[in-house]
Amino acid sequence: MKELSSSQIRQMYLDFFKSKGHAIEPSSSLVPKDDPSLLWINSGVATMKKYFSGQVVPENPRMTSSQKSIRTNDIENVGKTARHHTLFEMLGNFSVGDYFKKEAITWAWELLTSPDWFAWDPDKLYMTVYPKDTDAKADWEAAGVAPDHIIAVEDNFWDIGEGPSGPDSEIFYDRGQAFNNLADDDPENYPGGENERYLEVWNIVFSQFNHEPDGTYKPLPRKNIDTGMGLERAVSIFQNAKTNFETDLFLPIIEKTAELSDGKTYGENQEDDVAFKVIADHARAITFAIGDGAMPSNEGRGYVIRRLIRRAIVNGQKLGIQGAFLDQLVPVVGKIMRSYYPDVLKQADYIAKIIRSEEDRFGETLDGGLNLLNSVIADLKKQGGTQIDGADAFKLYDTYGFPVELTEEYADDQGITVDQAGFKAEMQKQKDRARNARGKQTAMGLQHDLLINVKTPSEYVGYTQLTTESAMTELVVDDKLADDVTSGVAQAMFAQTPFYAEMGGQVADKGNILDEAGNVVAHVTDVQHAPNGQNLHTLDVVAPMKKGTTYKLVVDQKFHSKVEKNHTATHLLDKALREVFGEHTQQAGSLVEGDYLRFDFTHFGQVDPADLAKAEAIVNEKIFAELPVTTVETDIESAKKMGAIALFSEKYGKVVRVVSAGDFVTEFCGGNHVKNTNEIGLFKIVSEAGVGAGVRRIEAVTSAAAYNYLHDHDNILQAIGHDLKVNQVTDTEARVQALQAQVKALQQKQAELEGKLASQEADSVFDQVTTAGNYRLISGTVQVSKMDQLRALADKWREQALSDVLVLGAEVNGKANLIVAVSADKQKQVKAGDLIKAISPKIDGGGGGRPNLAQAGGKNPTGLPDAMTAATTWLEAQD
Ligand code: ATP
Ligand code: MG
Repeated sequence: MKELSSSQIRQMYLDFFKSKGHAIEPSSSLVPKDDPSLLWINSGVATMKKYFSGQVVPENPRMTSSQKSIRTNDIENVGKTARHHTLFEMLGNFSVGDYFKKEAITWAWELLTSPDWFAWDPDKLYMTVYPKDTDAKADWEAAGVAPDHIIAVEDNFWDIGEGPSGPDSEIFYDRGQAFNNLADDDPENYPGGENERYLEVWNIVFSQFNHEPDGTYKPLPRKNIDTGMGLERAVSIFQNAKTNFETDLFLPIIEKTAELSDGKTYGENQEDDVAFKVIADHARAITFAIGDGAMPSNEGRGYVIRRLIRRAIVNGQKLGIQGAFLDQLVPVVGKIMRSYYPDVLKQADYIAKIIRSEEDRFGETLDGGLNLLNSVIADLKKQGGTQIDGADAFKLYDTYGFPVELTEEYADDQGITVDQAGFKAEMQKQKDRARNARGKQTAMGLQHDLLINVKTPSEYVGYTQLTTESAMTELVVDDKLADDVTSGVAQAMFAQTPFYAEMGGQVADKGNILDEAGNVVAHVTDVQHAPNGQNLHTLDVVAPMKKGTTYKLVVDQKFHSKVEKNHTATHLLDKALREVFGEHTQQAGSLVEGDYLRFDFTHFGQVDPADLAKAEAIVNEKIFAELPVTTVETDIESAKKMGAIALFSEKYGKVVRVVSAGDFVTEFCGGNHVKNTNEIGLFKIVSEAGVGAGVRRIEAVTSAAAYNYLHDHDNILQAIGHDLKVNQVTDTEARVQALQAQVKALQQKQAELEGKLASQEADSVFDQVTTAGNYRLISGTVQVSKMDQLRALADKWREQALSDVLVLGAEVNGKANLIVAVSADKQKQVKAGDLIKAISPKIDGGGGGRPNLAQAGGKNPTGLPDAMTAATTWLEAQD
């Protein structure tokens, strides 16, 4: 077998088909584009649908690719079979109405067996064909395959209902008798059966029929070829690996995981190995999925990512990994995949951050959840039950964030199931509760029925005036139309109103209603649009009011003016972001309040602080440029000609209002604005963060709020400067850097001293050799600050050959640590791993290791002396 790395194998496949006139297509994003039928790209052909359906004609009808793919239906197989992953790469060659079966088969055989290419042993290869597809059989034979290596299998027909379909041919590699997991006469023991010996590496689909709506199959005028070879499986063959995981694609991830675990090694026991494999697999999948712009969330793709992360964490626990760790695997994945996917390593910091925050989030409730789950399972077992009930599964989901699938798998390992129907019923109950709560909250909902027939017109005059006198036309009290009200909450409409009703992100005006004598009779606390468009005021009535009476409506001008500034600033920011990030940047929601403004926009990946600063500077520049703000009402077409920015999601009427700030920005907008940008005074961004898949959120302040923000920060800086005793605030940074350097130097010094101290202390421990049964024993607790130092002591002990057995304990950060070492000549009689298993319960912990060295961690440091005594007793009981 040629010795090739995974990158070389991937490249060899692509090069081979390039030599046959194929265009090499890049690996597309895992997030499907314009294809709502798919959650993830799950094969090479999934990215080629547009060509196969004839919607788009490719430049070259022959294409080849290595396509990253995610298959969630294989999640439960991961770690249990040798060959399944969630994320894998599918090597493929495609023909869109060009070559067909004969070429596809001939080239497949050439690639697999030619000494210039894969050079696999022909005797090891088996082909399955659809029984009626005599052409495929003949073509394989003509290519050189021995007739007894071609097997007819009934289900070799690729058919997904209506649409293109056809027979396929699968290629199996015989991994040999050593991999045989079945009896020789087992009916599944053949290429194509469910077994470990014959590995399916490649599937070639001959799509030559159209599956008609009436169930018949008509030959296609243009026949297509679509193939898929799992890269990881091919690599496992080249690298003679027991499973896909013992290859250069996974081993570095597994090794890093072992390093992070408490002394576990891969290949020692099956249960741990499954955990290692699951973690390595999921680390790749989440790294790539997040790199392609998907984000953990509670639905769709996001839920898959969340589930994979949580599943990996629970497996990490099985290996004794405390706290977040998956983020540390991201750069390892990045390095492995660097040659073909250089972006992953470049984005590694960003991806790791997202994973880390998701881990921290789950980590907070993980222990509680696992405790609950374990106690539920223990109770069940005691009572002889076999099913976790729906309420418990729901509590795990709702309170502890355990996806029900995760609970199910965890329970399954112990032969227990989950009551799915019960879980769903609990979920529904919660939804109903939420709906009822909402129903009570908004009186508006109830009133819709009442107000649907109220068509009395009401005019909004707030664009030009903030005070007006007008008659009350409608009054609602206790969800009924009424003529008067003396106090409490009521709703009212007026013939004219200067009060803005909440819309387009701008909040409603506040203010007062006055009677003729100038006394306040009501406070306006909210304004919303009624079903027929009138502004409906929510009133807090303080003196009797009557329908038909004329009142003075007075908007709170201070508040209104702050809102105007923030609204115009929002438009400036919208445009500034487009200038910095490109015109494709879309507004994804906004909130214009009195105190601040909030702006959501589409953007993949993190926002560079420098870009954010640029956008902020542009907005301020436009404020200082004193641009006049003007509005016109016009029809949609003219507005679009003016280059006005419209929102996708909004529906606009025939007449639209368009707001411009100089010639910098023009937007469709029904809201309130300043007359000149200079009124905004100052603009300051106070925060920026991601709020969902591909959406970022900026919060900013203007005018006095911006000044106050900067002033507060300046005060903090002055105070720090004072504490640091710098002459000028501008010296602060240099002083902090100097202090940091000093701290680092001191820490180094301290570590050195601790090391010296530990070795002195160790010398005194090493002085006391006792006898336990047939063995010379050194044991005791020492003071160290890291587990590493215990290991260093064990090395020193071994160098000096001081006794047969060493047992050291230490308390580190409130936890207990143990290390056991056995000299080379006594390892036959005494195994370090056995001894540590016997004594680690004393510290409420567990551990293991090799015969020469073993480690354990536990929660109970006060048990360390008991552990030492137990070691003596145990040794005395040995031969
Ligand atoms: P299997 O029966 O082994 O699950 P499949 O029939 O689902 O395979 P296809 O849909 O024909 O596989 O995909 C084509 C090729 O992609 C397979 O021959 C295999 O090499 C690879 N492949 C499919 N699923 C996975 C997976 N979950 N992990 C790794 N490789 C896979
Ligand atoms: Mg499959």
